[in-house]
Amino acid sequence: MNKKEIAEILEEMAVLLELKDENPFKIRAFQNGARAVEGIEEDIEKLSEQKKLTEIPGIGNHLATLITELIQIGFSKDHQQLKKSFPEGVLKMLSIQGLGPKKVKVLYQKLKLKTVEELEEACKQHKLLKVEGFGEKTEINILKGIEYLKKSKDSHLFPEALDEAHAYMDYLSKSSHTQRISIAGSLRRHKETIRDIDLLISSSNPKEVIKTFVSYPLVNRILAEGETKSAVILKSRINVDLRVVTDTEYPFALHYFTGSKEHNTHLRSIAKDKGLKLNEYGLFKGKKSLPCKTEEDLFKTLGLSYIEPELREDVGEIDAAQKNKLPKKLVEFKDIRGAFHNHTTYSDGAATLEQMVHKAQSMGFEFIGISDHSKAAYYANGLKPDRVKKQWKEIDVLNSKLKNFKILKGTEVDILPDGTLDFEDELLAQFDFVIASVHSKFNMTEKDMTKRITTALKNKYVTMVGHPTGHLFFMREGYPVNLHTLVDVAKDYGKSVELNANPHRFDVDWRMCKYAKSKSVPISINPDAHKTEGIEDIQYGVGIARKGWLEPKDVLTTWPLKDIMKFLKSYR
Ligand SMILES: [Zn+2]
Ligand SMILES: [Zn+2]
Repeated sequence: MNKKEIAEILEEMAVLLELKDENPFKIRAFQNGARAVEGIEEDIEKLSEQKKLTEIPGIGNHLATLITELIQIGFSKDHQQLKKSFPEGVLKMLSIQGLGPKKVKVLYQKLKLKTVEELEEACKQHKLLKVEGFGEKTEINILKGIEYLKKSKDSHLFPEALDEAHAYMDYLSKSSHTQRISIAGSLRRHKETIRDIDLLISSSNPKEVIKTFVSYPLVNRILAEGETKSAVILKSRINVDLRVVTDTEYPFALHYFTGSKEHNTHLRSIAKDKGLKLNEYGLFKGKKSLPCKTEEDLFKTLGLSYIEPELREDVGEIDAAQKNKLPKKLVEFKDIRGAFHNHTTYSDGAATLEQMVHKAQSMGFEFIGISDHSKAAYYANGLKPDRVKKQWKEIDVLNSKLKNFKILKGTEVDILPDGTLDFEDELLAQFDFVIASVHSKFNMTEKDMTKRITTALKNKYVTMVGHPTGHLFFMREGYPVNLHTLVDVAKDYGKSVELNANPHRFDVDWRMCKYAKSKSVPISINPDAHKTEGIEDIQYGVGIARKGWLEPKDVLTTWPLKDIMKFLKSYR
């Protein structure tokens, strides 16, 4: 069990204890424990072996025993017992946006609601109005939350699906019957979230491949087992579909199963115009199949330049490929030279300033921007001006020692409801860069929210808006905001637009990247890291940027540092 899984269990236990009306100190101990585990920079298994867990602030004897139990046997009796004291549906209610333990407790105790379905029905019949503290607005919000939950059901965060796919491929590659193997489907196209994993294998012995596929140790259930295709559910609850084809069919099948459907339909019509027929088995002229060894060959035969998988959404890529107008070279992770938007222990980060700097250096970066929260973000330990100045001193000392690397002074300043900022201009002027973000009062109309955010962006010291829509996949929908207007203002005022690379966010999304590119507004791929490994999320942001047709020149964080510094002065 890894850190993240352990932290999630502790978090869940805190919630269950709250549902049980346990004493607040006990609840807080679990919440703090979860946060402490998330923040551990060392190997947690080693710490547990060496009985050093209690040396970490926030982890006492009781929690240390529980964590060791989780690491050694994979579950905890206390956790299991706690879970058993509530119907499963009650736990599920907790995943509805805006429903915390306190509200769920009331619904469970007073209205005896045990499932999400019962809750939905109760809202529709306005039964919640009978309960003190619940109004019509709560009912509407709960129904909205349930709708969102249904929509995101069976979906997974991109990195989770990618990691599962890579592990499965490593296993399948070891079979002597596997010739070529690839990820296909939405995962290969780098969609924001993933429903299921599609794998494709070429082999002259499909039966053996299928046998190997269903014998994978992480399979929970086999859904289908045919001659050339199979489907399973993994223990992590992700569905995986496998297709096995001959090596001659492979490039056509790879293209077909990568999709998207719309892209495929469009490409088939291009083939048809040329008197050809394209399907998953081949490209045919009459009965004769035209030889293609790779996808590249396939596009070439159709008179198109190669279309990267991320671009295959039928949003103009086929037309551009015909006219040789596709981006020459999409941005890659190795093009990235640094990152803005990182948190440290000064606010709600788990790693110190120095640890974050080391991590960025170890990734080959030339700079890191530090942007801890401002004072209004009290829940995130936001900084008052005196602590900002303390941090600046620490940065100055570090910078004087560093060679070929620079720490940029920044802040993630709260945008207040009226569009003003949580720090005075006089202070903002002294930062190298300023990210302005909305962290409170989400329920505004689109018009008001757009005004609020663009007012902030127009402040002469603001570099960009952080996570512009505020949405979190599987947790909450964003607030309404007109992103086209935001990009237009960024254009007019010479600002940048953030692509928050946290896989829960991917905010702005790839469609907006494309729009920003069309307006020559540079995108900053920011990790919004709250611990050292968070910086690695940049790689997923790069995937989204590629999907948005971005080339290195379109991404601010690939520019040479001297050009970035010039940019940061240009709009002031
Ligand atoms: Zn933020
Ligand atoms: Zn942040």
